[in-house]
Amino acid sequence: MTKKKSNQKKSFNKHSECGTIESVYRVKSPWAKLTSALFTVFMLSIALCYRGSGSAEAELNRISREILVSGVQMNAYDSIAGEIRREEARREEIRVSSEVRELKEARRKSSEEVRESTTSVKKAYLTFDDGPSGNTDRILDILDEYNVKGNFFVIGRFSDAYKDQYKRIIEDGHVMGMHSYSHSYAEIYESADAFTADLNHIQYVIYDITGYVPTIYRFPGGSSNLVSPVSMYEFIDILDKRGIVYYDWNVNSGDADSLLLSKEQIIDNVFTGINGLETPEDRNEVMILFHDLAQKTTTVDALPAIIEGLQAQGYVIAPIDDYTKMIQHPNVR
Ligand code: ZN
Repeated sequence: MTKKKSNQKKSFNKHSECGTIESVYRVKSPWAKLTSALFTVFMLSIALCYRGSGSAEAELNRISREILVSGVQMNAYDSIAGEIRREEARREEIRVSSEVRELKEARRKSSEEVRESTTSVKKAYLTFDDGPSGNTDRILDILDEYNVKGNFFVIGRFSDAYKDQYKRIIEDGHVMGMHSYSHSYAEIYESADAFTADLNHIQYVIYDITGYVPTIYRFPGGSSNLVSPVSMYEFIDILDKRGIVYYDWNVNSGDADSLLLSKEQIIDNVFTGINGLETPEDRNEVMILFHDLAQKTTTVDALPAIIEGLQAQGYVIAPIDDYTKMIQHPNVR
């Protein structure tokens, strides 16, 4: 005799091969119920064919109804299970994004505390967008000569040609951030999906070449750009959810101008920009925008004088870290 288990339910009796009555139990799952019912239908069909038994026919009808009910139950079961999975995924997403927000808030608070305790230290962040390029090695040589660290917001479009430069930036201890893969405004800012695809691409390229996973970002054109047809808040939200911090700048060297500025003009732009900042707090932490592009040779020429001038004004030239003020443009649309 088959023993009844706690998760089983008696279904019906059937004649065993040796002529005794054997209770058949089935698992309560709809799938097991269906399998068992189908098997019974099969057996009863054979019995009907050979014996035309009335009781077998009645049993067959009963089991057929049971199959129908099982089918309905299974559909309901599948749909409820799907609902539960979707709800669990939704809750997980909410939990992760609120954790990221809490971490960011904690980070912001601790950076403020550290900044308050070190207000006497003025910091300047040299940031280079759009590289690597044919100028990257010259920039790195100068930074090395002055023993200071820079911040490179790189793109990925020409990554095959500059693998050594990506590696050197990391090996020399500078900071590497993302500045999109394609740097094509039309492509990146087309939609949230397009932005995410480009972000994944540049993050992967950097990881693939250097083994380093970048966690900071600079929007092409800055977060206050006027070219994105989609609200920049959508893209900021994507970065937030992934724990990626974006930085704009508060001093512009002006070297993105379509004309090639002279070395003197670039130096003047930097120091005029710093003096033009509204408050002493703003002037305490300056993030200067430069471009690492092959044609911007005068940017490289201007660097030694800029580094010396900043140091003469008491600035420490620093790499971006967790305590860096989040210099972000206020006029984001
Ligand atoms: Zn750029």
